[in-house]
Amino acid sequence: MRDTRRARDAWDIVRLVDDAAWHARQLTDPSPSLRYAGICPRCRSGVWIPETQLATTNHRCMECGHVEPLATITQAHELRLLTSGTMDTAANLCHLLRACGIHVKRNTITQWRKRKRITPVGKDDQGRPVYALADVLLLRRAVDREECHR
Ligand SMILES: [Zn+2]
Repeated sequence: MRDTRRARDAWDIVRLVDDAAWHARQLTDPSPSLRYAGICPRCRSGVWIPETQLATTNHRCMECGHVEPLATITQAHELRLLTSGTMDTAANLCHLLRACGIHVKRNTITQWRKRKRITPVGKDDQGRPVYALADVLLLRRAVDREECHR
């Protein structure tokens, strides 16, 4: 909760800085580790954000300057992942999700399977269980909600 408020304060400060300074800061940032968050809803160009950027901030598109809440961009991206029909092993799904800034441990998926919360859709040619990406995403969302209500 405190982090959310801090992010909002930080964004208010950033808004006080003019566009030129904002862009200059982005350009001089020493090669931050970026992650894919989704696409700009206006120009469809890819949105890459620093790992440390909180989901509660706004994103200014580097291509067209469109400003969109980052949460909207990542939610749209999650929806695309949900409907993509992607299926893979726990390890590969975790790797894919991590690249999108969604952290699910491979072990967590194994635990879900043991507790019968998730059912593999099949096995790969090495006999490893294969899961639907949508199942993992939906379960993760459900778990997030449970934790919020604790
Ligand atoms: Zn754009």
